[in-house]
Amino acid sequence: MLALVDGNNFYCSCERVFQPRLKNRPVVVLSNNDGCAIARSDEAKALGIKMGAPWFKIRHLEEEAGLVALSANFALYGDMSDRMMTLAAGLGHMQEVYSIDESFIDLSGIPGDLVRRARTIRRRIHQWIGIPTCIGIGPTKTLAKLANAIAKSAERKPGSYPAHHAQICHLGACSPQELQALLQATEVGDVWGVGRKIGAQLRAQGVHTALDLQRMSPAAAKAGWSVVLEKTVRELNGVPCIEFEDEPPAKQQIACTRSFGQPITELHDLQEAITEFACRAAEKLRKQRSHTGQIMAFIRTSPFREKDPQYSRSASIPLPTPTSDSAHITQAANAILKHIYRPGFKYAKAGVMLMDLQPATRQQLTLDLDNDMPENRTRLMQAMDEVNQRFGRGTLHLASAGTAGRHRAWSMKQERLSSGFTTDWGGLLCVNNDLLP
Ligand SMILES: [Mg+2]
Repeated sequence: MLALVDGNNFYCSCERVFQPRLKNRPVVVLSNNDGCAIARSDEAKALGIKMGAPWFKIRHLEEEAGLVALSANFALYGDMSDRMMTLAAGLGHMQEVYSIDESFIDLSGIPGDLVRRARTIRRRIHQWIGIPTCIGIGPTKTLAKLANAIAKSAERKPGSYPAHHAQICHLGACSPQELQALLQATEVGDVWGVGRKIGAQLRAQGVHTALDLQRMSPAAAKAGWSVVLEKTVRELNGVPCIEFEDEPPAKQQIACTRSFGQPITELHDLQEAITEFACRAAEKLRKQRSHTGQIMAFIRTSPFREKDPQYSRSASIPLPTPTSDSAHITQAANAILKHIYRPGFKYAKAGVMLMDLQPATRQQLTLDLDNDMPENRTRLMQAMDEVNQRFGRGTLHLASAGTAGRHRAWSMKQERLSSGFTTDWGGLLCVNNDLLP
């Protein structure tokens, strides 16, 4: 058996832990530069706010319905995620962290009542860190995902599924008739891995529910669609086809790209931004213990500012020696920038991509009499990562990334950012004395 533990409305729930005034109110979290809604509380969903709704289109609900919008505070969400994952891991032997708020847990060999065990973990996560979760249990990943969706719906929309499945749903413990009824009540598009496009194609062929899909022959799924859908059909029938990955595979390329808080024109500002993006990407690279052999950078104007002159250009260069050294990667990215930069444009976005990734254990060196010993550079980078992890991102950084912090010309727009409650001493929650009993 597998369990899927998933934080409910995760970003909104993180904000609510530290700002109880947000409870029972419609809340949305906005994407970078306060662009559009990327998380919604149940109350916000009830107002009809769609995922990805642009802020300017829902802004009127602030006055009309008491909507609260917040800038995404990823430092906070990442830290809360770590804490949630640590507690969720207690459910079984192995954990696969699937996304910031979801993890699969391998329950094989766990004796006793799994629902009771899940309830204990759920209560513990809520009590210790304040995040509400739902837990789905099933014999395959697809069924565990489905169980989780059922647990969520049964809680949020009473009547959609039998009430005893709310919060925790164990499909492995259902009778065949019960399982059949649950699959029949689930739209085919809500099955993990189906998605909107294939969902529409399936419906056109008369496959409307998860039960219809379960009864399809795997061969027909493969012939009509893909191996992926074939696996989905088998998984719905309880045959595991999607592997459990307790160690995520190393990425083949790593990118860091951002839109700026406001258009920028100066090479100097772009250099700061490119430096920061290159350093972020390098940090991710070191985390997965890889080196990069090829670096790409791009800059572009905004296609939405149609009246402005448009410019978009990227270039890439190979590195003489594959590296994960922030300084070397930044040097290369800035060399590209100098080459592709043209004055007179309002730049809206830039990015750095690291390609040709290879394990850091395999190293081809050249005799370089001017440079430091490579081991020293590796230790320097390690020290930098450790300091930044302990004291917060940007504590140690390359000077070319600029020294004005959030006030750099290109910095993200985050007008509604909450405090770094768990990641920054200055952001600790202050309790007003007047509110104490
Ligand atoms: Mg979630």
